Amino acid sequence: MQQIAWQRELLRIVTIVAISSAAGMTFDKPFWGALIGLVVSQVLMLKRLNELFLWSNKQGPAPIDSGLVGYSVDVITRRERFLNKTIKKHKKQLKRITQGIESLNDGILITNQAGFITSFNRASSHLLGLRVDTDKGQHITNLLRTPSFVKYFKKGDYREVIEFKSPYRNNLIVQIQVTQFGVDQKVIIIRDVTERQRVEQMRQHFIADVSHELRTPLTVISGYLEMLADADVNPGVMRAIRQMGEQSDRMKSLVNDLLHLSKLESNNAGIGSDWFEFQSLCAMGIDQLRGYIPKSLTGEKIPEANIECECTSNIEVLGFSEEIHSVLTNLLTNAIKYGRKEGKAAQIKIGVHSSSKGLEIAITDQGDGIAPNHLSRLTERFYRVDESRESTVGGSGLGLAIVRHALEHHDAQLKIESTVGKGSRFSFVIPAERIRIKGSE
Ligand code: ADP
Repeated sequence: MQQIAWQRELLRIVTIVAISSAAGMTFDKPFWGALIGLVVSQVLMLKRLNELFLWSNKQGPAPIDSGLVGYSVDVITRRERFLNKTIKKHKKQLKRITQGIESLNDGILITNQAGFITSFNRASSHLLGLRVDTDKGQHITNLLRTPSFVKYFKKGDYREVIEFKSPYRNNLIVQIQVTQFGVDQKVIIIRDVTERQRVEQMRQHFIADVSHELRTPLTVISGYLEMLADADVNPGVMRAIRQMGEQSDRMKSLVNDLLHLSKLESNNAGIGSDWFEFQSLCAMGIDQLRGYIPKSLTGEKIPEANIECECTSNIEVLGFSEEIHSVLTNLLTNAIKYGRKEGKAAQIKIGVHSSSKGLEIAITDQGDGIAPNHLSRLTERFYRVDESRESTVGGSGLGLAIVRHALEHHDAQLKIESTVGKGSRFSFVIPAERIRIKGSE
């Protein structure tokens, strides 16, 4: 087709030039005739090009031509038709995607990199009370002023989600997740988690109530068992009484830990935190556990642990002193219970170091260590590495869950490193915002 158009174009020029040179020959001027023919063919070509130009700018009809110009008109028309079809198809797809996003129960909100809202769906309006006419173009933190959200959004670390009461409806709890979209946009997903939170609260209250109710009968049972420990009975019965006493002690510690954990879970950190001196709290925890020998249920004689402490003094921490105290005593108790090799005393080191990141506290032991496949699950409730080992020293299985919750209240995370046969290191960093030098207030 393209080749034929070229041939026709050339034929047209050659014909005009030939006719005009023949005409020139009658005047004995064939060269001038050919030149005039060439000029005429170029003028005609320019005329058609002008028609093409006007048509392409929608200022005139399509030029009718069998040469290159006509061929170009054909190609452009076909391409335009194809592009129109594609645009129509994409428009349809876009409409369906928009309808899909609109029909979602989750809110989807898009902002530019700086946080100015570019669009949002109906669910966002419902969950956050946004209005299409006034709120588009506003900065997200002008509309969602909840301090925890503002801090989360500004920090720019969106690996975790955040939950808070909707500023629009107080009985609604929303979960927000921000995702970086391309280089210059952020997609914010808003979910209604009110029902999930209600069920979670019911669970927490149930555990707290049951644990509380179990306390009284347990106290009575262990009181009677203590009384019976002095009774004059045969050795078989005495062994049974002693075992019942040990198990009721275990149940008491389980109930206490459950109560402690549910209190930590239901307490959303922030309220009631205060500055406290870290070194004295740490020293108090160590003093309380110095001389502590875990009860061996198998009768094994456990030697007293050796505790060394390298503490940085003069540091104050913003938080809940009882919670940090419970973190330290739980980690230390575990190091005493599990951080020893059979028949040997546990060798424990407590390191406290401050840096630009904050205050790092590490408790290291030289026990049997923990296999890597257990590490990620240790802070789950009731997770135990080896039932048979733990049954020799007792334990509720809640200690590390308590530690995790208490640390979350201090924006810290428990890090567990361990090598089988060499020992374990449990550490955490209290961030710099929560640390100050004593006397610098
Ligand atoms: P428990 O009350 O049973 O001690 P924790 O939640 O405190 O429960 O600990 C969970 C499990 O983690 C323990 O049962 C034990 O298997 C393991 N563990 C904790 N600390 C250590 C440690 N220092 N060395 C080895 N294992 C440990």
